[in-house]
Amino acid sequence: MSFSSLPGSSSSSLHPLVPYGWDADWEAEFVPFAEQGLLPGRVVRVDRGLCDVITPFGTVRADTEFVVPRDPMKVVCTGDWAAVDPEGNPRYVRTYLPRRTAFVRSTSSKRSEGQILAANVDHAIVAVPLTGDLDLGRIERFLALAWESGARPVVVLTKADLVPDAVTLSYLVKDVETTAPGVPVLAVSAATGDGIDVLAAVAAGGTSVLLGQSGAGKSTLANALIGRDAMEVQATRDVDGKGRHTTTTRNLLALPGGGVLIDTPGLRGVGLWDAETGVGQVFAEIEELAGRCRFHDCAHVAEPGCAVLAAVDSGELPERRLDSYRKLMRENQRIVAKTDARARAELRRDWKRRGAEGKAAMEAKRGRWA
Ligand code: GDP
Ligand code: ZN
Repeated sequence: MSFSSLPGSSSSSLHPLVPYGWDADWEAEFVPFAEQGLLPGRVVRVDRGLCDVITPFGTVRADTEFVVPRDPMKVVCTGDWAAVDPEGNPRYVRTYLPRRTAFVRSTSSKRSEGQILAANVDHAIVAVPLTGDLDLGRIERFLALAWESGARPVVVLTKADLVPDAVTLSYLVKDVETTAPGVPVLAVSAATGDGIDVLAAVAAGGTSVLLGQSGAGKSTLANALIGRDAMEVQATRDVDGKGRHTTTTRNLLALPGGGVLIDTPGLRGVGLWDAETGVGQVFAEIEELAGRCRFHDCAHVAEPGCAVLAAVDSGELPERRLDSYRKLMRENQRIVAKTDARARAELRRDWKRRGAEGKAAMEAKRGRWA
């Protein structure tokens, strides 16, 4: 198979995976796998050890069990660039290319590891409704998550048509801009179409996910970007022709205006997962102030020479920001502590098991020599 048809090369036709985000860097990384006769493809969905992969020759269903199945962080996920063995029966994913970014969430179950939700996301579109009071704390939470993943966040203020006038709207945008330094903030209305073109242009530049609370307008935005009903319910006929209805959820879509949208149900209620770096990035100005505190491990509560508290006193730093920062840090530490506790418990079980096995082996040996 030839990859000479990528943009920038002499050929005029596009590689069939370009609409799915394939670029020269992925191509370069894939060279050793191409040499082994493996096929590149983007994973559109995964369920029960099987995944759908879009390859240059269409969508194939492939087994993922081959790829380190024990570690939930290493399982294949939506957005991965997979190397598929085209000969295998069943077909299987041999490996996947190193992830540029990854969305991970803490699991509420017994497992201590995070769960990987989406890979290779470039833009995290944080949908925030302009109805009711703006929940700045919630925005910060989603931004932390976005930064942590490695994706670039964009805040999209939805339902702009419900804001009574342009002046109010500009104040709301300013408020959010202050909360999200360095993050583009965009007001849109799916109802009037305002701002949707700008959003589409952002989305055209890579792979995007939609984050935000329920009711924020994510599905509506997805539909506006896709230009039709994304989560359509398809009436499909099974072999005996009974016309059973099945909901097809396509978790990864190429957008008509360019770019890729990943919309997995699991991403919608994401929790923070070891997002300390992300939290730091959202509160960059606090981290910077903290660098000027007298004590290296200053908690910014009552320490003398605390630059953070001084900034609050002088009005330079809104107290709400500091509260929000503390809250997210605490939340994050709780998750990390829970994880550590689980990891320790697992380690203990492991040692006990090995101890028991060792003893059994010793006894077996003794038995043999007795
Ligand atoms: P999701 O839960 O984040 O996917 O939110 P939805 O897309 O389902 O939207 C929640 C509600 O907000 C629905 O009733 C939408 O019709 C409404 N909605 C979404 N976008 C807009 C908008 O631009 N303007 C107005 N007025 N309503 C909107
Ligand atoms: Zn301090």
